[in-house]
Amino acid sequence: MLAFYNGEFIESTEKIVSLEDRGYLFGDGVYEVVRIYNGKPFMLEEHLERLKNSAEALHIPMPYSDEEFKQYIAEGLNRLNESNVDIYMQITRGSAPRNHVFDKDIQPVTAMIFRKSKKIADDIRENGGSVLLREDQRWANCYIKSLNLLPNILAKNEAAEKGCYEAIFYKDNVVTEGSASNIFVVKNNELYTTPLHKGILPGITRIAVLKVAKELNIIIHEEFFTPHFLKEADECFVTSTTSEVLPITIVEGEKISNGKVGELTKNIYEGFKELTKK
Ligand code: PMP
Repeated sequence: MLAFYNGEFIESTEKIVSLEDRGYLFGDGVYEVVRIYNGKPFMLEEHLERLKNSAEALHIPMPYSDEEFKQYIAEGLNRLNESNVDIYMQITRGSAPRNHVFDKDIQPVTAMIFRKSKKIADDIRENGGSVLLREDQRWANCYIKSLNLLPNILAKNEAAEKGCYEAIFYKDNVVTEGSASNIFVVKNNELYTTPLHKGILPGITRIAVLKVAKELNIIIHEEFFTPHFLKEADECFVTSTTSEVLPITIVEGEKISNGKVGELTKNIYEGFKELTKK
């Protein structure tokens, strides 16, 4: 697979990462996933902004300017010669003899992997996916897109083993987000989503969905809600760069409403697809 490592284009399987890279030793780094639709990066500015925020929160200096990142991305896309691509971008603090305390002069390491976008299975896209509800055992700073994803990985694996698409987290009886997505529910034709706070990732797809919902004159509540409210919802969907707007029709084995993909969810997904074409 085409990859980028500190200014060079390489094969993703090439063995060049230092064993002393702190990303490898500690998960000491940040990442982004950006989708390219028809050759054009979708909401790249927002992704770069979030990458900067994540890096800043961890005191990792940005290795490149936005312009440099955009140029490397354009070059990668040229080399890959695919029009629908997912780019995984990662910055680790750098490589140094293992020590919790990091040297102020350490040089960050930037990597990217360019891969043709994967389509969500037609059945889930059309009929909706099912989710588990699990306690959110992550740290208090999930707004930082850090490499540390063990609770997310374990929850999503449990979901996959049980034939579910996603695991939805809750903490202190409020729903936070999915293991790799933000969550929205519809009740009485109004849209609800968890408000931004340090406990969730400020999703880029979430921004796009709120924009679409506003254009559709849907009343939006950025409010905390309970797992019970989710189970009693009329409609539900999760959002992420790779899942886009994905309907959820079953929570913990129970149908949401009539178990069918809701009209509002369909309209928002259509509006989202339009945005990706602009
Ligand atoms: N929350 C978590 C925990 C995630 O991993 C993701 C996917 N990156 C999201 C939300 C959705 O973010 P985005 O829409 O920017 O992909």
